[in-house]
Amino acid sequence: MPVEKLILWDIDGTLLHCGSDGRKALNRTFLELYGIEDAFGSSDIGGAMDSMILDGIMKSHAIEKKELPTVIEHYQKVLADVLEKNEQKRVLPGIPSLLSAIDTNPSSENALLTSNLRIGAMTKLDSVGLGHYFKLGGFGDEAGEKWDAAHACIREAEELYNTSFSKNHIYLIGDSIYDILCAQKVGITSIAVGTGWADEESLRACNPDHYFADLSDTDRVLRTIFT
Ligand SMILES: [Mg+2]
Repeated sequence: MPVEKLILWDIDGTLLHCGSDGRKALNRTFLELYGIEDAFGSSDIGGAMDSMILDGIMKSHAIEKKELPTVIEHYQKVLADVLEKNEQKRVLPGIPSLLSAIDTNPSSENALLTSNLRIGAMTKLDSVGLGHYFKLGGFGDEAGEKWDAAHACIREAEELYNTSFSKNHIYLIGDSIYDILCAQKVGITSIAVGTGWADEESLRACNPDHYFADLSDTDRVLRTIFT
C-alpha cells in the first residue's frame, strides 16, 4: 500500500515537555566554550529557528561562523546531559499510541516539523524513547521560517516514498499559534493541541481545522486523520 498520509509533528508542547532544557543547554554551551553568561537571554527568539538563534548569539559575541560545528557538537552533548538529569520531562498524553498507530499503518507516516536543530530534536526524542518513530522531518538547521522547513520535509517525504501527497492528506499537529499559521501557509490540515503554552481561546482564534485539549483520546484523533 502506498504512503498517502503524512503527519507532521511539532515537538515541544506537542509530543513532549522538557521545560526549558533547550535554553539551559544552549546557555551552558556558550558558557563552557566561550565563558559567556546567559547567551540565550540576550538574543531575540520569538519562534525563530534554532540556527537563527545560534547565528544571533554568535554574531552578538563576535564568534566566527567556522565555530558553528563545534558549538552544535557541544550543544548536543550538553543537551543530552541536561535531559538525562531532568526528572520532570515527559511524553504527553496519547502520544505513544498515536505514533505507533500511524507508524504501523502502511498508508501513513510520521515526520517532525520543528524549529529545533535536527540533532537537538533527535536528542530530545531519544531521551523519552520516541526517536525511532521518525525517519524524516523539517528542522531548524536552515535559516527561514517553519513553513520553509515544512516544504523541505514534504519534498523529502515525496522523494523517499516516490509519491506526491495531496495537500489535504498532510496534517500538522502542534501546540502553538505559529503551528496553525504554518499549516495555513502551506495549505495543509492543522490539528491544534492545548498541551503547550497557548490557551484554548487563542488557539481557536486562529481557526485550526481541529482542536484537542490533549491527544489522549487516541481513537478520536485517528478518526480525524483516517476518515
Ligand atoms: Mg511547540
